[in-house]
Amino acid sequence: MTANSNIQLFNTLTRRKEIFKPLEAGKVKIYTCGPTVYDYAHIGNFRAFLFEDLLKRWFLYRGFKVTHVMNLTDVDDKTIRGSKQQHKPLREFTDFYIKAFFEDIKALNIQAADVYPRATDHIPEMVMLIKTLLAKGSAYRGEDGSIYYAVAKFPDYGQLSKIKTGELKAGARVSQDEYTKEEAQDFALWKAWTPEDGDVYWETEIGKGRPGWHIECSAMSMKYLGETFDIHCGGVDNIFPHHENEIAQSEAATGKKFVDYWMHNEHLLVEGKKMSKSYGNFYTLRDLLAKQCDPIAIRYLLMSVHYREQFNFTFEALESAKSAVERLRNFVRRLHDVEGTKDSKGAVATLSEKLEECFGGSLDDDLDIATAVASLFDYVKEINLLLDAGELSKQEAADVGGLMMRIDDVLGVIGKVEVTEALPTGIEGLVQRREAARKAKNWNEADAIRTQLKSMGIVLEDTAQGVRWHKERA
Ligand SMILES: [Zn+2]
Repeated sequence: MTANSNIQLFNTLTRRKEIFKPLEAGKVKIYTCGPTVYDYAHIGNFRAFLFEDLLKRWFLYRGFKVTHVMNLTDVDDKTIRGSKQQHKPLREFTDFYIKAFFEDIKALNIQAADVYPRATDHIPEMVMLIKTLLAKGSAYRGEDGSIYYAVAKFPDYGQLSKIKTGELKAGARVSQDEYTKEEAQDFALWKAWTPEDGDVYWETEIGKGRPGWHIECSAMSMKYLGETFDIHCGGVDNIFPHHENEIAQSEAATGKKFVDYWMHNEHLLVEGKKMSKSYGNFYTLRDLLAKQCDPIAIRYLLMSVHYREQFNFTFEALESAKSAVERLRNFVRRLHDVEGTKDSKGAVATLSEKLEECFGGSLDDDLDIATAVASLFDYVKEINLLLDAGELSKQEAADVGGLMMRIDDVLGVIGKVEVTEALPTGIEGLVQRREAARKAKNWNEADAIRTQLKSMGIVLEDTAQGVRWHKERA
């Protein structure tokens, strides 16, 4: 299949939907800001990672070759604070949460990125980039020994967040990684060591210290994807200052456009409120799993609302998500049982074509998942009616099953469905006769019956629990 170019994406940079045009035909390079590994990731984080998973699976469905890089922020203000609180070396502290993160994304059936660069493994790349910025006059050393980005030297500052730089105060500087004040300020690229950093520092050409958070993503994205790449994703709270600063650093260093398409997902609310520990509505994935919630139902729910809409997570909605997934699985199970020869006189082919068109058209339209899933459930309903009427042939059932599998490559919620089949008539008697022959040590007869069953496409396995059988796959 050749890559299709009808995909439209909402670009935060231009604030409108645009036809996606890759830098290189048939390929897409995506960078997604990964977790800051100072705690377990919460369901708001997973909303972002699931939106990105859907985006990537959609490109794969449309035949693109995807290169996906997701960084792991294992050194910043929060990780240093956390490791000190737990009296652990930074690496040991972050290793623990990285392992937990990989377990979580596996539980949610999120496809792995091609590379997961860790910030602490890329200090030389960051130092190089900062040296370039110093050499170009885009950065300067403050009296505290830290190196700051000179926002006033970059005329395009504010292009992503649309923040006003007009009232830029001379000397307004910020050394924290995160600042909520919606105001352009010079920000730290390299933080000179202070006693609070303890043993977290690197001795480098630009001094003893550690990188700021923003430079980490510029250095790692460009290392693995090139100076200009296709798509950069994150949550809306990353737009300012994180992504604005990434653009400023990268473009000032290379003189090239950094990223063509910026995509951001909206916030997640829980039971109608911003998620917060003080409201008692703050959940990590682990909190939900401890409540016996099904991770695939969580996946389905977090993915089912358009990424640019605020999404209200409720336990009631999670219950409906669970039954939606079960409905899809039951449907696929039912298809396996179809033995009929009577067919639908072309109705199935028409319905399948319509589904592919609608499902595909919706996802091409800036990942309109709600419409795509609605068309899928309409299809399931129609095919179920044909099944009820006994008007679906075995071949048609197999075709529908194939389409469902392709769709599940995108949704990732059906998986391998366990099929419990009844033993076909006449077979049960043969299996019993063979068992009796075996008990009587009449091996010739037992073997003859095994051969007879094999010719009927039934394979026997003698296990500790007794004899098992399965149908030979064609
Ligand atoms: Zn980032």
